[in-house]
Amino acid sequence: MKRRQFLSHAAAGAAAIGVPGLVGVGRREHEVVLRGGTIVDGSGRPRFVADLAITRDRIAAIAPRVAERGDREIDCRGLVVAPGFVDIHSHGDGTLFDDPNAEGLIRQGVTTIVVGADGSSRASVRDLLAHLAVLPPALNVGTMIGLGTVRGAVVGNDDRAASRAELAEMVRRVEEALADGALGASSGLEYTPGAFAPRDELIALCRPLAARRLAYHTHMRNEDDRLLDAIDESIAVARGAGCGLQVAHLKTQGPRNWGKLDTVFARLEAARAAGVDAAFDRYPYLAYQTALTNLFPVWSRDGGTPRFFARLDDAATAARIRTETLDKVALIGGWDNVQITSVSAAEDKAAEGRRLGTFAAERGSDAYEFTVAMLRRNSGSVGMIGFAMSEENLERILRHEWGMVASDGGAFATSGPARRGVPHPRGSGSFARVLGRYVRERKVLTLEQAIHKCTALPASRIRLADRGTLRVGAYADVAVFDPDTVIDRADFTDPFQYAVGFKATIVNGGVSFADGERFARTGRALRGS
Ligand SMILES: [Zn+2]
Repeated sequence: MKRRQFLSHAAAGAAAIGVPGLVGVGRREHEVVLRGGTIVDGSGRPRFVADLAITRDRIAAIAPRVAERGDREIDCRGLVVAPGFVDIHSHGDGTLFDDPNAEGLIRQGVTTIVVGADGSSRASVRDLLAHLAVLPPALNVGTMIGLGTVRGAVVGNDDRAASRAELAEMVRRVEEALADGALGASSGLEYTPGAFAPRDELIALCRPLAARRLAYHTHMRNEDDRLLDAIDESIAVARGAGCGLQVAHLKTQGPRNWGKLDTVFARLEAARAAGVDAAFDRYPYLAYQTALTNLFPVWSRDGGTPRFFARLDDAATAARIRTETLDKVALIGGWDNVQITSVSAAEDKAAEGRRLGTFAAERGSDAYEFTVAMLRRNSGSVGMIGFAMSEENLERILRHEWGMVASDGGAFATSGPARRGVPHPRGSGSFARVLGRYVRERKVLTLEQAIHKCTALPASRIRLADRGTLRVGAYADVAVFDPDTVIDRADFTDPFQYAVGFKATIVNGGVSFADGERFARTGRALRGS
């Protein structure tokens, strides 16, 4: 029974028996009441024990004792009740239309994802949001406008400057995407064709963000030897455009670059002091995931896959590509720090989940030659994981005042169409891993800090109104978990394992997941305000 309907029944009943004082005693007024949980509200303030009541899609009460009963009552004693997690750098759109249940996310308390990261989004934000609205997915989905996508549509895949007319058209497309509800703009400057955008072009494309107080989210041009230049460029773009800056998956890649983190922090802090609203996110793992072609220099990929293979066929360019690629592989510590995640060619399926150096050696092949041949067999489309990061730096990035959690992962499931390849475990584990490993086990963060970094802080970067904190009137996006048992299970060998320790996940007031069972899909398409 819905609230309004109930109230009219209750009023009639009370009038009939003539005892108005009894109206409301034991009445069922709310859809859901979470009883006796430890509320960690996302703001960063200390936890407290309370009931939390949900009416329709909003939080109706947070109080020591909510008298009214709920259609559904959930015993949360001993458990943490937190805002649903907001993942502002997600690749969940890769599987969402094949499997809208997003079980790997729902089962770790994620209630909102923002897709269109790394410069790559749907060309039409309006169409994407319309399709999501009719789906609907199990969680809320918003999107960035991908600046690489915009460049590809207007300029193409070549490494050349945009003409004045092309630049004007790209700006128009960004403005249109923001008007249609994009929550920011993303770049992927290690990917083609996004990498061909010079600084001035990025500034021009980010200017429309300023008026809406949205941020430029960047997968920077480099995350290893030229990391500091890339930080400077990111700050210059945000400053030039007058918008906020979100450095995506901040890292110092390759042991020889681990010592740069102090300088990275110093430059971002100086930028903040000078008025640039700079922040960053990070997934809680020491390995990254990308395309195998990213081991190859950007210039070799100019113009798209056929031209990449043509340069590998040309003796003059092939030697240079080999030298630069081997240097990149040395930077991350050798071929066995490269793990293959996904292929399309049937004959390469055995490589999924394997370390490239060992796998090539077992076949009597040179790792470089094997890699090139495998890319040819798969039309250039092979996924990889690279192990090259520092635990100490990861912890410092998570702990930093302006560091927040984002998965950079996909929406996977243990069965069905969202079980694909051998992906990075971050998709199904990031948020549980922060709570289990970095809060409980390693004590890098307090629970209150960690929840803030998974909820209100990322929500503020995309200006999500009424999500990311537990307060009366906010949307009822809620995660309930046991702080003593929460942990990720997905790993690099078997990433298709759900996190554990989660009791319930509520999305827009609907119970999406509880006690191991999946229920309604109540997610929405999120538009910028
Ligand atoms: Zn990225």
